[in-house]
Amino acid sequence: MSIRPMVLPLALLTTTVAFAQKAPIQITADLSDAPRKIYHAEVDIPVSPGTVSLTTPEWIPGNHRPTGPVSDITGVVFTANGKSLAWRRDDQDLYQFHVTVPEGVTTLHAHLDCIVTSRVSQKLAVLEWEKLLLYPASTPVADIAIQPSVTVPKGWGIGTALTPTDGYDPQHPKGGTTHYAATTVEQLEDSPVITGEYFHEFALAPEITPKHYIDVVSDMPDDSNLRPALLTELNNLVRETGAAYNSRHYNVYHLLLTLSDVAGGEGLEHGQSSDNGVGEKGFSDDAHQLAEADLLAHEFTHSWNGKYRRPFNLYQTDFAKMQQGSLLWVYEGMTQYLGNVLAARSGLKTQAQYRDLLAMSAANLDYKPGRMWRSTEDTAIAASILRGGNPAWSNWRRGQDYYQEGELFWLDADTLIRKQTNNKKSLTDFLHIFLAKGGNTGPLIVPYNRDELIADLNQVVKYDWAGFMQERIDNVNPHADLEGIERGGYKLVFTAKPSASEHTMAATGGRRASGVNVWYSLGLRLSSEGVVTDIRWGSPADKTNLAPGAKIIAVNGNVYSADALRTAVRDAKGKTEPIHIILQADTFVSMADIDYHDGERYPELQRIEGTPAYLDDITAPLTKPEKSSK
Ligand SMILES: [Zn+2]
Repeated sequence: MSIRPMVLPLALLTTTVAFAQKAPIQITADLSDAPRKIYHAEVDIPVSPGTVSLTTPEWIPGNHRPTGPVSDITGVVFTANGKSLAWRRDDQDLYQFHVTVPEGVTTLHAHLDCIVTSRVSQKLAVLEWEKLLLYPASTPVADIAIQPSVTVPKGWGIGTALTPTDGYDPQHPKGGTTHYAATTVEQLEDSPVITGEYFHEFALAPEITPKHYIDVVSDMPDDSNLRPALLTELNNLVRETGAAYNSRHYNVYHLLLTLSDVAGGEGLEHGQSSDNGVGEKGFSDDAHQLAEADLLAHEFTHSWNGKYRRPFNLYQTDFAKMQQGSLLWVYEGMTQYLGNVLAARSGLKTQAQYRDLLAMSAANLDYKPGRMWRSTEDTAIAASILRGGNPAWSNWRRGQDYYQEGELFWLDADTLIRKQTNNKKSLTDFLHIFLAKGGNTGPLIVPYNRDELIADLNQVVKYDWAGFMQERIDNVNPHADLEGIERGGYKLVFTAKPSASEHTMAATGGRRASGVNVWYSLGLRLSSEGVVTDIRWGSPADKTNLAPGAKIIAVNGNVYSADALRTAVRDAKGKTEPIHIILQADTFVSMADIDYHDGERYPELQRIEGTPAYLDDITAPLTKPEKSSK
């Protein structure tokens, strides 16, 4: 049984001012001091006399966690008719401020600052609005009207999906204050702003309406001027989303990209934009691009899967309520699958690179012993307590595995549909139903539950989809779901040399690089200095006295280096003598012998000859591509 899609008032936003009964809140975000790591806001809130309760956001959509930066909000001063008013924080909900508004006052003014130590540099800044928002508590955020303005340093350009009302020209940015059309608090929170001295905006696939842009800021003057080859691949990406999802749920879409070694490291989806941050050189050439190739495709896909279609229990009418994660294996897992697939279809990576990265991800999951006690669904339910943290024994704890587990799940479903229909149908048929319900819409949230997923899959091909989900998602599985890879015509194998893609990513030193990969051999993750960050539960290394945090000082009589360790692993192959290591753990030095003799092991996908190569069908473009650099 499927739930009836709920149409929220947000649908009205773009055409009519549904909230005209009350004057909008006016908010001016002042990013002039961004290089000094502090933002300011002036907020005018329509009020009536009596006690007013105002709040800042706690549960941030897309973060799925209570990450609202209330502890960094400072300098809060309320005034009315020029007089300052006392405030008191709520004793239980620390995000709320109570103010008593005197008779005769209709507008309450608030000044506030936010200390911002990430996503900001001397040359650029990112504003996610939870840093500065203040609005009536316990009110659906889709019902609160707000009119934003943004002030930036002289000459800085601005990228955002908000609609400028005073002729802002992205090709000739002047800086200063730009005013935007009124919207709602829900939509403003979903509309981040990037700004920077080195700014470029490029139109993508201009023949398509609604319009698409990529806005780029960088720390160095040249980097925001993207390579023509990358722009070609992004044009392809926009066209591929049309073919894959058969709908669009925005009035305009802005890919927002920050290139910075100090302000990068982000990927956050929004309905009409996405906030993407990578290192300064993250897209500077094909080698650097490999580790980031799926980022823009992933966050863009979220406009359909996550923003438009939202798990019913992840959607809340205000940001004070907990967002529940049990369906994140769809929200994130299917997006992980589609992000990688569309990156390959668009030429952002090659089909061979797609397979190499899939092998790395699948091997990582299959060699994660925490799966012996914890289901994939539990990693989703517990999402808000599983991000980041110390890597010590993280393979036994598991992390937010619903991303990669979900990727394998949806590949399994895609290849199953292809097999059952002799490759006549695919997951694309499901996406045309599930993501395109209602056709093209403006920004809108349409919740779903598991019953609807099952019903829509059954429309494509009749199968026991409920059992399929139960077995793979809800049950504890000692091994990863490799059926999709095998039905796709490949199998996961281990070889003595890293794949071309693993080698490339290690050489560029990007975020996925590690000094040495001995995870599938010894069972160790090591920093580039030889510090043990994690030990695989049940591995040869686990059978010694090694502890996370220990530093390997020497290997077989040689001072530690990545090469010395790899040589020792190779030399021990087929012999009986263990690998001898000397360790420093806390303030003590000790020795350990690792009894391992199977040589180096790196994951890769090997073709199963004589079977259909569905995996290659899946990663082939659906549209006629513009010629890419690869
Ligand atoms: Zn995501």
